[in-house]
Amino acid sequence: MRKPKTFTSRESPPHANLRVVFALLTWSGSLLAALPSLAAEEPPPTPPPFLARLGSVPDWSRLDPYQGTMTREEFVHLLRHCYARKPEEADPVIRVEDDRALILKQSNLPEAGWYDLRFKTGSPLPDRGPDYWKSPLEVADLPANSTRPLEGLRIAVDPGHIGGKWVTWDDRHFKLGGADTLEVREGEMTLQVAKILRRDLTLLGAEVFLTRETNDPVTKERVETLQDEARAYVARRGQIPSPALIASTAKAMFAISSEIRARGDLINDSIRPDLALCLHFDASPWPGGRPVFRSPNHLHLLVNGCYSATEMAEDDTRLEMILRILQRIYYEEIDLADTVSRTLWKETRLPSFAYDGTSGMSVSDNDYVWARNLLANRVFLCPVLFFEPFCMNHQETHARVQEGAYRGLREINGVYRKNIYQEYADGVTAGLVRYYREHRRRTAPGER
Ligand SMILES: [Zn+2]
Repeated sequence: MRKPKTFTSRESPPHANLRVVFALLTWSGSLLAALPSLAAEEPPPTPPPFLARLGSVPDWSRLDPYQGTMTREEFVHLLRHCYARKPEEADPVIRVEDDRALILKQSNLPEAGWYDLRFKTGSPLPDRGPDYWKSPLEVADLPANSTRPLEGLRIAVDPGHIGGKWVTWDDRHFKLGGADTLEVREGEMTLQVAKILRRDLTLLGAEVFLTRETNDPVTKERVETLQDEARAYVARRGQIPSPALIASTAKAMFAISSEIRARGDLINDSIRPDLALCLHFDASPWPGGRPVFRSPNHLHLLVNGCYSATEMAEDDTRLEMILRILQRIYYEEIDLADTVSRTLWKETRLPSFAYDGTSGMSVSDNDYVWARNLLANRVFLCPVLFFEPFCMNHQETHARVQEGAYRGLREINGVYRKNIYQEYADGVTAGLVRYYREHRRRTAPGER
């Protein structure tokens, strides 16, 4: 979905000509008295809203159904523990009062007012607002000894990135080695894992939906159709709209923003799953532009959180964050991530990755689980597990990608292992089975 038309500093709002007239009149002095009504009509200039790339002006009435559903204590805890990177970073746009939170509607225009979100008090109001996803306790009871522990669950699997001929628009591909070496393409690797997961999770009873079945993008936009949007975005951010910057912005708008938002529409409007799995492979940076092997290899999982002051200043981002808080998605995400990280570690035996607290932060005592604000885990409005196992430019990962999706086991560095895609999928599947078996209510024997 494209955002409604807003004025950028490169476009003149309709009253700009009036302003020129007004300035001329002021300058001529004596004429001003003759036209007092014109001077009084000039509206103040309105800055365009500060939004994320391809974001929409938020509709704050989306928070109305959540009025009075969360106590002050819980709201403050979630905001400060997981969502705001530092508590004070939220202060300019979210004011917590005794009985309500005031949320700035347009961060660069305080006159636009604050949304008034009342906290739950002792009154017998319902304590939750709408959401489309179900927690394990809301899924139908699991019959004792069931071999289908995921029965009744809807799971969206999102293979990160794109592939095939589109891979050139996506920076997640590289070639390291001689002419007969396979190029590493993240968007094709994630699709392989997604297809294994669909087969296995379906056998275990889940309804599984892939956000894409092929290497093609989901979005209908293309780099060429996003040129105007890119130019406007660069100008709104106060950057110099050089051809190179517009080109790189349009590229990122296509391969990242537009693509993930299209998948978000699919997830939120059609699939409406109980859980979304965002599949990725990690990579270590290669300064200088030429891919190189890096150590160590590692694994981590992400939950949504760690919003910076600038991110919370984006009006649409702020609304999306508040919706995640009011839907209490954190509890589900952190418990799932904890369980699944353990089974994925058991399969991969990879050490943990660590963030320095800038783009990602720790929100639990699990070294493998981090909070980070990414477009997908923000706009998919359900619990999202975002996977980042294996560094693609680690020598061993690279060698395993070259081996492909072989059957059975092969010796890798002295250890017999499954192919990398099956190992990834098995780690995820084992975690989901363990989590839902532990958290779902069971039908007592003889009750059926
Ligand atoms: Zn990725």
